[in-house]
Amino acid sequence: MDKKLIHRRSVIVESFETGSGLVIEGRLQDERFFPSYYYTRESFVDPGVIHGMRVRLQVSMPDMTIRTAEAEIGEVPLPECREIRESVGLLAGTPIRKGFSGKVRGMFGGKKGCLHIMNLILVMGSAAMQGFWAYYSRVRKDDRVRKPAFDESLLVDSCWLWRSDGPLWEKFRKAQNIPDALPRKHIITIDGPAGAGKSTIAREVARRLSYRYLDTGALYRALAYKALRKGISGEEGLASLCRETRIEVRLDQDKTSVFVDGEDVTGRIRTPEIGMAASEISALPVVREALLSVQRDIAKEGGIVAEGRDMGTVVFPEADFKFFLDASPEERGRRRFLELREKDPEIEAEGVLRDLEKRDIQDRKRKIAPLKPPKGAIIVDSTGLSVEDVVGNVIKAIDK
Ligand code: C5P
Repeated sequence: MDKKLIHRRSVIVESFETGSGLVIEGRLQDERFFPSYYYTRESFVDPGVIHGMRVRLQVSMPDMTIRTAEAEIGEVPLPECREIRESVGLLAGTPIRKGFSGKVRGMFGGKKGCLHIMNLILVMGSAAMQGFWAYYSRVRKDDRVRKPAFDESLLVDSCWLWRSDGPLWEKFRKAQNIPDALPRKHIITIDGPAGAGKSTIAREVARRLSYRYLDTGALYRALAYKALRKGISGEEGLASLCRETRIEVRLDQDKTSVFVDGEDVTGRIRTPEIGMAASEISALPVVREALLSVQRDIAKEGGIVAEGRDMGTVVFPEADFKFFLDASPEERGRRRFLELREKDPEIEAEGVLRDLEKRDIQDRKRKIAPLKPPKGAIIVDSTGLSVEDVVGNVIKAIDK
């Protein structure tokens, strides 16, 4: 039989240190599309210890653009794969020194186990491309849509091959004699008033557990952002706004990125004005109802630290661990003031405290999903405690 090479595909793997972790970059190269391209290296921050790893794929598209897909190492079935875990262990926790990147690169294909990361990137890359092309050919048939709107989440989602219910994982599980029941990844909720330190603590707990971090306030803020921009208020207006608005999130260990109808609004929603508007619209049942399924959907696979006002009471009443984080009003006001002053040096402490108190009353007094400690929650008062102390308490409670 005559064998003909249709096209060649290869993966180029490089590693870069950043302040918070190691980025392993896999570029999927396919000579049919675009043989080479540029990319910018992440700037080298402070050398430190590698805490986590992120696999980033760059895929060239036929229109000569480069798309990126990212996946946290923790989101693939790594904990169940001894060899992958070993190879990750070789890197994680290693202090970064000059020239480390070169050493890591040398390890690919060399040291046993590192091949798995390479395979992982390869599989993700191929899956991503297949997912994209399947989607592309489907929409191409529809005359009204000539070019698909490219959605990054498509790339990441198409890595389903490796998900715990994906066929590759199933094959791997059998070969490795791994029992069928996968350990369930927990849902951890952190509720509390504004300025109690929920985001900082939730983010750090997520990082330590290799969980995802969900900031649900960002969803309410995103909706408030659109309502303010369109000048919409009142229950009826908001009901139709909810119906016609597409809210999507992308979760990383340290960040919840929010998209309103495809527009990334993450940086724009962190203002006192939007905080107040979010508090006002969040008292409406129609708004809470609309965001409920979004939140549950995001968390359905577990492995998440979710923070907000009604996480343990309404959204995830069955959560595995519930915390209620509080602090004195003065301390909360001071923290929020320092945070906002970074963006706006003119901001006044008094106004910040007043806003915070008003928002607190609104959030605690509303009829639906009011802010209160959930049943069975561990109450943590963070007044006068360092971040390390609070995170330590939370982790200790979970370990127990
Ligand atoms: O936490 P953050 O300050 O970003 O939240 C903004 C507002 O969104 C809160 O004041 C609250 O009214 C509302 N919110 C809510 N339920 C959540 C999260 C936030 O009602 N789970």
